[in-house]
Amino acid sequence: MSQPATPPVELDTSVLTCMDHRIDPVAILGLAEGQAHVFRNAGGYVTEDAIRSLCLSQQLADTERILVMHHTNCKASEDTAEGYRALVEAGTGTSPTWDVQPVIDPYERVRAALGQLRQSTLVNTARLEGYVYDVDDGSLTPVS
Ligand code: ZN
Repeated sequence: MSQPATPPVELDTSVLTCMDHRIDPVAILGLAEGQAHVFRNAGGYVTEDAIRSLCLSQQLADTERILVMHHTNCKASEDTAEGYRALVEAGTGTSPTWDVQPVIDPYERVRAALGQLRQSTLVNTARLEGYVYDVDDGSLTPVS
């Protein structure tokens, strides 16, 4: 009977981050494959769906730790809310009903996200951590 080469990894973490193709959140955060549910959206925002996903991760899979990671040079930082709204309207002919706030400062965005999650009664934030990943030098900075 063969044994697995490595011990099974415990799923204990959820990650909320940006959809940016330059970031590999599992590798950057030092997680093992299979250790985390990873939720991504444009800008890594705490949306209603992000809260739904984090909540269900905790309730269905008993994850406890939540890591929020934003990054430098986000595409969501290159225009204003009006600019993004105009871009979507020009490209689709439809005005978005969702928030299109730009990510001006990733550190501020992480602090705002941590605050939003702490306000939610659907998410256990006892083990909540925030980080900013620098896409230029590869550094990861904790944000409190
Ligand atoms: Zn981004």
